[in-house]
Formats: sequence, C-alpha cells, structure tokens
Amino acid sequence: MTKWIYSFEEGHADDKAMLGGKGANLAEMTNLGLPVPPGFTITTQSCMQYLAAPSFFESDLKEEVLKAVADLEKKSGKFFSGNESSLLLVSVRSGAKFSMPGMMDTILNLGLNDLRVQTLAEQTSPDFAYNCYRRLLQMFADVVYGIPKEQFDELLAFFEKNSKKKVQEFSLEEHQALIDQYKQLYREHYQSFPQSSKEQLYAAIKAVFKSWNNPRAEVYRNLNDIPHDLGTAVNVQAMVFGNSDQESGTGVVFTRNPATGENRLFGEFLLNAQGEDVVAGIRTPEPIAALQKSLPDAYEDFLKYAAILEKHYKDMQDIEFTIEKGKLYILQTRNGKRTAKASLKIALDLVEEELISQQEALLRVAPATINQLIHPVFEEEALGQAALLAQGLPASPGAATGEIVFTAERAKECHSLGKKVILVRQETSPEDIEGMVVSQAIVTSHGGMTSHAAVVARGMGTCCVAGCGELTIQEENKTLVCGNVVLTEGALISVDGSSGRIYLGEIPTVLVENNQELQLLLSWADEVAALKVRANAETIQDLKTAVRFGAKGIGLARTEHMFFGQERILEMRRLILADNELETRAALKKLLAFQEDDFYQMFQTIGDKPMIVRLLDPPMHEFLPKDPLEIEQLAAKLRKPPETLARKIEQLQETNPMLGHRGCRLGITQPDIYKMQAEAIFKSAIRLSQEGLTVKPEIMIPLIAEKRELEAVKHFLVQHIDKLFRQARIQPLPYEIGTMIELPRACLIADQLAQEADFFSFGTNDLTQMTYGFSRDDIGKFIGAYKDRDILTFDPFQSLDQTGVGQLMKIAVSKARQLKPQLPIGVCGEVGGDPASIPFFQEIGVTYVSCSPYRVPAARLAAAQANIQQERQ
Ligand code: ADP
Ligand code: MG
Ligand code: MG
Repeated sequence: MTKWIYSFEEGHADDKAMLGGKGANLAEMTNLGLPVPPGFTITTQSCMQYLAAPSFFESDLKEEVLKAVADLEKKSGKFFSGNESSLLLVSVRSGAKFSMPGMMDTILNLGLNDLRVQTLAEQTSPDFAYNCYRRLLQMFADVVYGIPKEQFDELLAFFEKNSKKKVQEFSLEEHQALIDQYKQLYREHYQSFPQSSKEQLYAAIKAVFKSWNNPRAEVYRNLNDIPHDLGTAVNVQAMVFGNSDQESGTGVVFTRNPATGENRLFGEFLLNAQGEDVVAGIRTPEPIAALQKSLPDAYEDFLKYAAILEKHYKDMQDIEFTIEKGKLYILQTRNGKRTAKASLKIALDLVEEELISQQEALLRVAPATINQLIHPVFEEEALGQAALLAQGLPASPGAATGEIVFTAERAKECHSLGKKVILVRQETSPEDIEGMVVSQAIVTSHGGMTSHAAVVARGMGTCCVAGCGELTIQEENKTLVCGNVVLTEGALISVDGSSGRIYLGEIPTVLVENNQELQLLLSWADEVAALKVRANAETIQDLKTAVRFGAKGIGLARTEHMFFGQERILEMRRLILADNELETRAALKKLLAFQEDDFYQMFQTIGDKPMIVRLLDPPMHEFLPKDPLEIEQLAAKLRKPPETLARKIEQLQETNPMLGHRGCRLGITQPDIYKMQAEAIFKSAIRLSQEGLTVKPEIMIPLIAEKRELEAVKHFLVQHIDKLFRQARIQPLPYEIGTMIELPRACLIADQLAQEADFFSFGTNDLTQMTYGFSRDDIGKFIGAYKDRDILTFDPFQSLDQTGVGQLMKIAVSKARQLKPQLPIGVCGEVGGDPASIPFFQEIGVTYVSCSPYRVPAARLAAAQANIQQERQ
C-alpha cells in the first residue's frame, strides 16, 4: 500500500521529489535536532493522484490525514478539534520539488473558529486571538475560494476609520463585529467558512493541490523549465506565533549576501509579526543585525543554527524563522537563490573554507548565468554627468536604460513592439511575472531586499532597485513623482541595480570582463575540461575579445565579411560580373591585396593559437545590388551598359539560395576565388613566419557533400600553395585542409571524407537546416506555433536537436574515427556555445566547440561540467 503522508521525523533532504523541497528540508532539520515545530508532509504523488481523480481524497487520503493529525496532537499535547483548553493550530504550506517562490499560498492559524478564538482570547488577549483569526479568514478565502485579499483589507480599514481606532485598540465586541463582516464577505461570494477544523484542513489541502495548476504557477514552470507533472506536496505544521508580543517576531535571512556573495548574514525581521508580513511590504522590516539588540538570545541561537545548516548543506541557505516569546523556531531552509556574482563568490569561498572541492565549485555555477558577469555597467564618464533621480536599495545588480511602464500588462505590450521597458511599481506580486521577464529593469517604491521584486529579479538576473521610498508611484494614472519631477509612461530612465541609483534619461553601457574571480574559476574549468573551446571570429575586435575570454583558438573565421567593405565590394562585383580574363585578373589582384592584409592582422592578433579559415561560402548574388538605381550606379563605375548588367544580375538570382550555387560548388566552378583566398592566407603566413611568428594555416572547405568535391578543391589548392612556397623560396610551412560537415550526406560518408580531410568541423546551422528542412531565416514564422502546441519544445538552431541532427553527427564521428582515430572534430555552429548541448558533444567525442566570443566563458564552464558529470557516471 502506498504511503501518502510522512511525519517530519520520517523524511530526508533527498526526498525532494516526494516531499517537495520544503518538506524534505523540514524533515532533515527535524532529524538534525533543530527547533522545528512538529508536522507532517503529504506527498507530491498524492497531489497528482488527487488532480487525476478528486475522489482519491475521500477514498485514500482522508484517513491518513486524520491519523497524522492525531499523531500531531499527541506530539504537541494539544487538540486540533473541539474547544479544549490547549489549542492546536496549524499552518498548511505548499512545497514542490523545485522552489517556486510565491507561487502557491500558505494558510496560517488553521483550526480557529468562532468558539476556539474566544478560548484563545481568554488565554492570551483578544487582540492577538482575533488578529490570528482574521488572518485565517483572509488567507482561507484567498486560497480556497479565490476571494481577493484586498477586500478584507478594505473592510478592516473601513472599520478603523469608522471607529476612529486602530484595530489593536478594538474591544472584544468590535473584534467580533469585524469577524461578522469578514464572514459576510464570504457570503457575498456565495461561500462560507467551515467551523470544523477538519473541514478547514481538508479544504485547504485540496486547494493547495489545485493551486499546482493555477496559471501563475504554470507560467513560472514554463519559464523555468520545470515539468508540469511533478505536483506539490502539502506540509501541515503546528503553529508558532511570532505575533505574540514584543519578544516575538518573524524573519527571512540569507546566510550570505545573495547579491554579492559576501559572507555575512543578510536579511530582515519584524517584531510582533506573523508569516509573510516581512515580505509583504506592509511594515518596513529591520535589518537582521538589529535583532542582536532587540532579542540577543534568539539572535545567538540563530547564528548557531545558521552555521549548522550551512555546514550541513555545504551551501548558502535562505532561512525563514519565527520567534515566539523569545524562543526561536526554524520554519524553512533551502539553498538560497543568488545572482551570478554571488554564486561565483560563494562557490570560491566554500572551496577556501574547505567545505567543497574545486570540482564541486565548478558544478555550483550555472553556465547560463556567466554572461551576467560580463554584462553591462554604465560608462563611467557618462555616469558622472547623468542626472540622479532617486536612490533605493541595490536589490539586483546590472545596468539598464528603458522607457517606464506601470503595469506588467503594458510591459508585455511595449516589449512586443520592440521597446525596452522598465517596470515601475509600488511593489510586485506573482501576477507580474510575465511583465518582469520582459523588462530591462524593475523599480519598486516599497519592499526590502527580500521583497518579491528583489528575489525574483535576482533569480532572473534582471537589474532591480527596490524600496525606493523617494518615488511616489501612481499605477492608476501612470505617473511617477519624485520631488518636483513628474514622469509619465514612456519616459526614459536608467537604473543601476548595483548602487540602487536611478537616473533620468539614457546612459550608455560597457561590458566588464576583468573579473578575477571568474578567471580563477575558468582556469579550474580549463584544467578539468576535455572539450576545448574556440571562438567564431574574424574581425580584429572579435578576435581580441575571443582571446581575452580565453578561447583556445579560432574554430571558424568566415571570409565573407572581407568582401563587404566599401572599396572591396566594388572589386568583388567587378570580379563576379567580369566579361573577360583581364577584368577578372584586375579584380582578383585588388582583392588579394586586401585579404592578405586582413589575414596578416588576424594571424598577428591571435598569435600562436590555431585559426581555421573558411573559404568563401555564400552564393554570388548576395554581393550584388538589386535596386535598379544601384545597378545603374554600379554600371557607371564598371563602365558597362546598365541593361547587360541588370540581365547578368538577374541570371545570378537563385530560386533556392540555401541549396544553390554556393560553398565548394563555387570553388569548383570558379577556382580563382579560392586560389586567391589561399594565396592571401599563405602570403601573410609566410611573411609572419619570416618575422619569427609560427603560423600554421588551417583552411576549411564549406558545403562538401561528396568525396570528389573535396578531392577536386584540395587538388588545385595544394598545387597553388606549393607554387607559393616555391616562389617564396622557402621550406613549405605545415598546414591543414579540412572540411565542414554540414550536409546530411557528408555525415553518412564521413569515412570517405576523412580520407581526404585533416580535420572536420560540424556546421550545425546548415546541418540543422538540411536535416529538418527548416530554413533558419524563416523558422520564426512557425516556431511559436510549434512551441505552443508542444510540437517543438526548443529552437533547434539554439540548442542541438540531439535525437535527429545529433544522431547524424554521431554517425559521422564514429565513421571518421574508424579511419583516423586522432582526427580533430569541431562544432562551429551556434549550438557550439550552448551549455545544454555541450554534454552531448562531449559524449560523442567531439574535440572542440567554437562559438561567438562572448559565449566562450560559459562554454568553458559547461565543458568542464560535462567532463565532471561524465566521469561521475
Ligand atoms: P512560501 O512557500 O511562500 O515561503 P511558507 O510555507 O514558507 O510559504 O509560509 C510563509 C510563512 O508563513 C513562513 O515564512 C512563516 O513565516 C509562516 N509560517 C508557515 N508555517 C508556520 C508555522 N507553523 N508557524 C508559524 N509561522 C508559519
Ligand atoms: Mg509565499
Ligand atoms: Mg517560505
């Protein structure tokens, strides 16, 4: 028989799939001997059972719930039902395998009713007892019936206004009258509040189960790639009361700073408060350091438990606690969410503290977040001149400029129009998630460093300034007032999430890459990794960036761009449209001079690192004008009749350019261009080697589908290169000629191609196009619909299609290696830099990946992780 419920004593930290993260950690802490109020966890499987067939609750679960409650009554010596003198109240808390902050709600003080609240009032005070009861009525209404919480707040405010008293000063009768109104609100929504504790509990459990499928939970899961079939666990736990008196309180603390990683407690607490008062932004919480003054003993205890938890989990913890009459309880712990910066610092610090190994540290940093560390900051000079608008809390680092919008809805609309927006709100709530995702930055006037906006922004790596009290944000009439500045929707501001400052207008940004901590981690990564990381680069600037970001060489230098400069394109056009040998020679000579110079500088820039140069790939018509006016101008420059030119250009147009006259096909029909390129490469290499630099040219032929293509191109290239060495009267330099593998046929005959090639490089962009038959330039027209219908769950041009394209690659590698076990095989498409695809490349035996320079750091880390994971298997 399946067991649906586990007491905290029965679970373990490893049981997250079954007990949810919260439940598993509550169990672990209980077994560590930490002060955790007793309770039990209803498994995630129960949730899925219930969602599949609600009758499961009556038939299977209910009885176990009753047993667990009886057990809890025994453990606590209190009673959940009836009007006994010792009342057991519980919280009902959701908790899935992966933490989904704020996604599913918690009900506190469950077990109170009209009678029991009176008992509680007699034992404590009416103020306390009714405070608890009101919270219960409000949370229960929200979670179980979807009655908006604000309606209760409004009612309370109305009562306070009428009686001219604060709620704390209400008489017993006034408290009761207010409760009556709360219940009236239920009736207005055609609902009622169950007086039986057990009925309350059943309803709450079912509501938490159902909340797994609420839209904001679904959105969150989609955003974070969390499967939809996991379900949430439900934790039922004896209440402790942070709202008992001034010796009580509640708080949320990170054991290290989640924005910077600094090893110091970071968090907030509120005295005489319950539950989420701290994060709700209703009262302004105090920094955790202040607890040392107000409740020194509890603070000491907290330090002790925080240290135990960090040692135990070997990671920074995000801890929720409550103090009841001076006694500390730990209500939750989990590995804290953090910025990329903090995640790096914490990983390195934990190695230093000998809590984790270097390998473990490498696994702790997500490659996808690495780019946040080399992302923009404001240009120093421009910043000096910028007009400061306001200063808030530096909640999530980064720098961004954008137009202000006041609702998540507008953020989405403006984003879809291609605008860069900054979401400005009093505070954010889970409903705002989709708008937050598309915003460049988030600004709030309320809430602290652990407010919803701050936590979510840090998780997403979005820049955020929270709790900027100087700002008056009026969401209804879309204005932001700060002193005498009034801004309306669309106004440009700049936000610095690292300093908490907000500026008027736009400030340019620059990339920072002198991050020494990152360099240290990546140096460990290079030691561990089997796959090398090269870069795709051809401009001098990109080559420099590639070297700075630690590329081990250039995996793909495209030569197309060399034909596009002002003067060059004219020569290229002259060449393509030449009518005789003379014209051809003249154009080639000019192009040769340009390219020789280019290659000279490129080889010089990358020094002793290898560089693979790919010969011309695109079809000729891409270099020609289409516009009649431009054709006329070109005709004048080339001294040719415009009509003949127009006709010639017309002839060069292709019906299906992607499958047309391009790549090695051009090399075969017009060998002069490839020869010219080879000549430019070798002349510059010869020059550099005479100057003392060792250059080993690697030439790559694109779009090979057939062995004889490669033989033919190679044949004339080798002859030409030999001639160059003879002319220069030098010993031949070592060089290599390899091929792109970017057609399905090339994969299938890889053994034959390997006979001719010194190296392979998978061109995964074309290979994906050709395998799927999807044009990369047109996939945008249907990928959205495909994703909506779950036909494709990812874009195969961004992440390798391992089941299709990947299998072709696997065949190619194994065929080639049978013939040449040492053959270097690279990947130089966009997916080469995709951290999710890198483990697959490692697995099939690829030698190196090559990607855009700014993706190199993340790829280096991903390569190290892939090797560690493979070795651990
Ligand atoms: P979330 O998943 O949103 O963090 P929790 O289940 O952690 O929700 O509940 C939110 C807050 O409610 C907790 O941080 C804690 O302050 C309060 N809470 C939950 N259970 C109890 C309890 N048994 N006693 C006192 N407070 C509780
Ligand atoms: Mg919550
Ligand atoms: Mg919590």
